[in-house]
Amino acid sequence: MRTQVVIIGSGPSGLLLGQLLTGAGIDNVILDRVGKDYILGRVRAGVLEQGTVDLMCRAGADARLIAEGLVHDGFSIAFEGRDHRIDLAGLTGKHVTIYGQTEITRDLMAAREAADTLTLYEVEDVALHGFDTESPYVTYVKNGVIGRIDCDVVAGCDGFHGISRRSVPASAMRTFERAYPFGWLGVLAEVAPVSDELIYANHERGFALCSMRSATRSRYYVQVPADEQVDAWSDDRFWDELRSRLPRHHAEAVTTGPSFEKSIAPLRSFVAEPLRFGRLFLVGDAAHIVPPTGAKGLNLAASDVHYLFEGLREFFLDKSSAGIAAYSGRALARVWKAVRFSWWMTTLLHRFPDSTDFEHRIQEAELDYLTHSQAAAAALAENYVGLPY
Ligand SMILES: Cc1cc2nc3c(=O)[nH]c(=O)nc-3n(C[C@H](O)[C@H](O)[C@H](O)COP(=O)(O)OP(=O)(O)OC[C@H]3O[C@@H](n4cnc5c(N)ncnc54)[C@H](O)[C@@H]3O)c2cc1C
Repeated sequence: MRTQVVIIGSGPSGLLLGQLLTGAGIDNVILDRVGKDYILGRVRAGVLEQGTVDLMCRAGADARLIAEGLVHDGFSIAFEGRDHRIDLAGLTGKHVTIYGQTEITRDLMAAREAADTLTLYEVEDVALHGFDTESPYVTYVKNGVIGRIDCDVVAGCDGFHGISRRSVPASAMRTFERAYPFGWLGVLAEVAPVSDELIYANHERGFALCSMRSATRSRYYVQVPADEQVDAWSDDRFWDELRSRLPRHHAEAVTTGPSFEKSIAPLRSFVAEPLRFGRLFLVGDAAHIVPPTGAKGLNLAASDVHYLFEGLREFFLDKSSAGIAAYSGRALARVWKAVRFSWWMTTLLHRFPDSTDFEHRIQEAELDYLTHSQAAAAALAENYVGLPY
């Protein structure tokens, strides 16, 4: 089989890139090691920057997002028993949209099927060959049969644990990493959210986040130690812990109910450089991870897709290599700003096990500064709604 672009991974970055390429008349095939239902069962991000929404529109997959997404003009930071609203719209003229990653993926899969573009699910042993030449190819095993796809370009959209980044010789790549000594225990429940907007809480018992997927479905998180086991958390224990970390007026308003998803996500910052190795391009979580505090993971995957799509469009349609040559530098410049912002939000809002009284006072001073300085609040808001592409 031959195509122009082989995309490894059918998560949001692979599907979005595939849909943009298909719209531009550029042939592509997506390979994923798991099935559709498994991918649609993964509960992850939910806060979309306008740039991500615009790309979904460009991909022709935004109808449900526009109809059902919740537009948020602000969010709250709670500390010392009170909360302070960050007025995103007032400070930046922009907003964010709440729409689950699962729904993004579902919409992109539907658009891909409608365009009759090939996706091979449940393939094993995906291997990349010759990406340091102009004729790369990808091999895989499907139903026990070895397949081969020749192509011009390979897009590694296969997440942090994928094969693409690991196919690059270690000597050709530099990595940067910070692991945080805690994770987020997240619960999804069919209950109305405690507030119309997100609440990020800094509390002496640890961080908490009140979030939602819709007007009837809530997503809540509490900070837990990195080695915590999810089985140790009954629903009752979770709701009690969540309420204990919120200002009283919010705690009393929390509607509880049975959870239908409960999991612990470790927090990590990771960046691999560069993002291009000959004809292989790394995209999204395959190249970088951020802690979810700034809601940037999925949005960074989308901005990578934007830069790579523009480069590939120039490469295939205008016969110019300038865009793909610039891809790594352009994408990484934006990635590092989001890595910085996510690290800063995480440091501001969490309790670190080894932090001293001095560090607590610095956190309090910074939170106080945010509530009294329009410039400080504007810097937070500008990053939260998403820096320009
Ligand atoms: C538990 C969790 C919670 C998160 N919460 C948030 C959040 O609240 N906010 C936020 O912004 N971000 C969050 N993120 C991050 C966000 O989900 C990711 O940034 C986003 O999924 C990146 O999309 P992607 O397409 O690059 O990678 P992925 O979504 O990881 O998709 C990669 C795809 O590649 C496939 N694949 C992997 N290896 C291979 C292989 N060898 N061969 C073929 N296919 C392969 C996988 O099956 C998968 O379908 C969270 C992530 C996790 C793990």
